[in-house]
Amino acid sequence: MVGSLEPVDLALIDHHCHSVRHEQADANTFAQVMLESAAPLPAGVSGFDTALGAALLRWCAPVLELDAGCSGADYVARRAELAVDEVNARFLAGARPDGLVVDTGHAPETLVGVEALSALADAPVHRVIRLETVAEAVARSTVTHDRFAAAFADALADRLPTAVATKSILAYRHGFDVDPRRPSPASVRNATSDWFSRGRYSRLEHPVVLRHLLWTALEAGLPVQLHTGFGDTDLDLARSDPSLLSPLLRATADLGTPLVLLHTYPFQRAAGYLARVWPHVHVDVGLAIPHVASRAATVLAELLELAPFGKVLYSSDGFSLAELHYLGALLFRAAVGEVLPSLTDPADADRVARLVGRDNARRLYRLPPTST
Ligand SMILES: [Zn+2]
Repeated sequence: MVGSLEPVDLALIDHHCHSVRHEQADANTFAQVMLESAAPLPAGVSGFDTALGAALLRWCAPVLELDAGCSGADYVARRAELAVDEVNARFLAGARPDGLVVDTGHAPETLVGVEALSALADAPVHRVIRLETVAEAVARSTVTHDRFAAAFADALADRLPTAVATKSILAYRHGFDVDPRRPSPASVRNATSDWFSRGRYSRLEHPVVLRHLLWTALEAGLPVQLHTGFGDTDLDLARSDPSLLSPLLRATADLGTPLVLLHTYPFQRAAGYLARVWPHVHVDVGLAIPHVASRAATVLAELLELAPFGKVLYSSDGFSLAELHYLGALLFRAAVGEVLPSLTDPADADRVARLVGRDNARRLYRLPPTST
């Protein structure tokens, strides 16, 4: 049961999300997004029969003029009656974000562009550059393996002025069990040769090249976001445990570049510890907030057991379905309202809530003020 929410009037910057579909979503899309899996549904299983699905039918249905708790089939049918822009605007603007920090590197052909996203959400959008997407674009050019490192550096430098952060999906492409050191130029040339020998269009999975991208971004200085914890079936959960990052955190501490551990669930307590002891580490429980739904307050509380309040950020990790951006905001506001009064002096809870909701993100990504 979702229970009753007491939304607090908390300003939010969604510091990690994606854009939304430019086409309507059918039942299959809902199942894939809600279960984080493209596999066929087993008998007896529905994406709506999950904590996320129950929360969606409880809190999103009224936004489409349906009764709370309607069936999944009724929800999908009603959504399809509306223009997709109308649905996207209701949920994106309904989340009342002060800003969106958007990873534009995943499946952009299926999603609306950043200008349209900004208009739908009625909020400024700030870009994040996905390192592997840039590297794979460089690989598809005519560059030779011995020129790859320079060409990647140039491509990244071209894009950095338009962005507030970069992002690594090392967790998806290899895992965190890597040599933490910056790879030598010779080893990067050899590794790129290996990668190209499998075809220029092959997916980048070589750990040495992946480490090279990460170190190049860290040396460029913008905050680097790292996917950690759960995600879809493309990753190995045990190798996405942020605890495995300790050697890399030790090796990169002196650079001072902020590293932002995204999602972290189910390792949020370990992530909170890392944020406590490493000055350059920041954390969220983004993707988990809509997925664990009525348990959001518990997950946030576990992160805040050790994470300094000035290191915790809000994100929805909304992707494709604007309902996720909406639910993330709704559930996070309620979780903050529930958790903070027991962790702080009640008189100080509003100040700490502003830190985790908006001000930490504004400071970290150097975002301009948008409201009081
Ligand atoms: Zn994401």
